[in-house]
Amino acid sequence: MRNIPFGKPIIGDEEKKAVLAVLEGPVLVHGPKAKGFEAGFAAFVKAPFAVSVSSCTAGLHLAYFSKGIGAGDEVIVPAQTHTATAHVVEFCGAKPVFVDAERESGNIDIDQIESAITPRTRAISVVHYLGMPVDMERVNTIARKRGLYVVEDCALAMGTYFKGIHAGLWGDCGAFSFYPAKHMTTAEGGMVITKHKHIAEGIALEKAFGVDRQAAERKVPGMYDVVALGFNYRMNELEAALGIEQLKRMNGFLKKRKENHEALSKGLRNITEIGLFKSSHGDFQSSYYCFSFLLKGSLASKRIEIIERLKSKGIGTSVYYPQAVPHFTYYRDKYGYKDNSFPAAALISHTSIALPVGPHLNTEDMTYIIDELKNCIHDLKECTAK
Ligand SMILES: *Cc1c(COP(=O)(O)O)cnc(C)c1O
Repeated sequence: MRNIPFGKPIIGDEEKKAVLAVLEGPVLVHGPKAKGFEAGFAAFVKAPFAVSVSSCTAGLHLAYFSKGIGAGDEVIVPAQTHTATAHVVEFCGAKPVFVDAERESGNIDIDQIESAITPRTRAISVVHYLGMPVDMERVNTIARKRGLYVVEDCALAMGTYFKGIHAGLWGDCGAFSFYPAKHMTTAEGGMVITKHKHIAEGIALEKAFGVDRQAAERKVPGMYDVVALGFNYRMNELEAALGIEQLKRMNGFLKKRKENHEALSKGLRNITEIGLFKSSHGDFQSSYYCFSFLLKGSLASKRIEIIERLKSKGIGTSVYYPQAVPHFTYYRDKYGYKDNSFPAAALISHTSIALPVGPHLNTEDMTYIIDELKNCIHDLKECTAK
């Protein structure tokens, strides 16, 4: 039996050496590693500005905070996303106004954005669901017409391109995650990219207490001024050292993900009991975070059984996401959302299974997954036919 975890970071000797080297030195925060990682990341995605932060969630929070979004404001948020996309709006005291997904991609249904906009709306947020890019041209057209700020949750979008431009550069800013299960890791960590100097400067200030000079920039040690309200959302030097090494592996990681994803697409294409999401095409280039599919008909109620059966065969799976965000208890209790709201997001949440395609796996692992999933579907069909 194979052992196929859903996600597994690839940490080599280079990463270990880089982290140890930081520990040997005097600088653990605010040092050259964070600056180097920012420069490397900016070059990788071709961003004018990149600011390292302690997580994607911190980056998204700063994106709204630095814009001054707060109480009385509303932000358009996709219903089908990680809860962080919505939580950061709540952190600011603003209200997330959820918009359903489109079934074909899992991305925000752009056709439903305009009717969710009110005079209080300040921003539109999107998530590139599982790495498939949102049509940012259409989102920006709506945003421009209404004078709205655009924030991209790029947590799963390293290697995502729309019309040849990397995710995060279409909106006003975009935030990435380096949590262990993502495309590359710094253990915890994030990066905000933007085309706008003032946004980069605002976020850099507010991620470190609103202090005007970092330690190395102080002429007289210990002397600084506080010019804004700010958080402690910095990335430390150990994380940044990891990031610099992981970046060197990124092209290889992306290539492997694509190969694995294509193997699953080919192997699972003709199974009538499962529904697939749109795959990469033309202007829409995915980062291939995972291979998610929908169970149809009588199989839809058998999801737990399938997940457990795959687990017994050594195959790790995940679900993106277990509920549409407005259906989680916190949002339901606060805003009164009902089960029948956001039907596409609910369908995806309740009937999808995500299979792994990460660089820790090879095409033989994919063949094994295909065979085991087919066996499982075959057996369950026999059972329901009886
Ligand atoms: C993982 C994830 C986040 C949170 O990232 P952190 O770095 O853990 O804060 C936010 N949004 C999406 C879509 C994610 O997948």
